[in-house]
Amino acid sequence: MSPFEIEERTDQVNCPVHGLREVKNLKLFADWGNSVCDLCTEERKIKDDQTMELSRASEEKVRRDRAIRNKLDRSAIPPRFDGRTLDDFAADTPSAAAGLLTCRQYAAEFLDRLRRGSSLILCGNAGTGKTHLACGIAQDVISKHEKSAIYSTVGRAFRKVKDTYRRDSRVSEEDAISFFAVPDLLVIDEIGVQYGSETEKNILFEIVNERYEALKPTILISNLAIAPLTEYAGERVIDRMKENGGKLIVFDWKSHRGTA
Ligand SMILES: [Zn+2]
Repeated sequence: MSPFEIEERTDQVNCPVHGLREVKNLKLFADWGNSVCDLCTEERKIKDDQTMELSRASEEKVRRDRAIRNKLDRSAIPPRFDGRTLDDFAADTPSAAAGLLTCRQYAAEFLDRLRRGSSLILCGNAGTGKTHLACGIAQDVISKHEKSAIYSTVGRAFRKVKDTYRRDSRVSEEDAISFFAVPDLLVIDEIGVQYGSETEKNILFEIVNERYEALKPTILISNLAIAPLTEYAGERVIDRMKENGGKLIVFDWKSHRGTA
């Protein structure tokens, strides 16, 4: 017989769990292996696989939690709205409830909005919770869809771009605009708070247009009604915001600031 040939025999094993079992045993070189219950071996293998799967799942959860935390840290959501979700929003009038519903749907269907590049305009009375709702959407986008979202006031966006006009700036205007073009969702707040120069109108257009061309959704927030907002931001900005299924929510209810 060739030394490489393996001998095989059937052993009887008396397993305390499974009783008498007939199991295959192999002779490797001179020694017969230990006979162990085949059912116990099978059960242990299944248990090992389950343990492995559990640890893989918990590793995946740790990775996911860390990625979400990083995205939240970079979102620049103002501390006042950090952790304030759509669920915390008190809709005390029918139109507030309708506005909340639109925001909820927008957040829930964000992946679809991202595919189509559908934006949102929240405009109207001050103190009606527009920033709260937009930050609530941004937090859902990050923690439920693992997408990136950035919040900025329009003033901060203007400053960031205008800073690049300085002779010693190491960042180009394009770089500054791409900063706002990169996130999956961009929230631009306080539109119309300050006087809008032609330069500022152009900056806002560049940001909105670059996102529009990349099919990335933008949320614009303003205390102005839609007509003065259109005048302020420019028709071409508002046109792009309305395309690809973009929505407008008019906040025409009374301010609840101070009562909430
Ligand atoms: Zn057994």
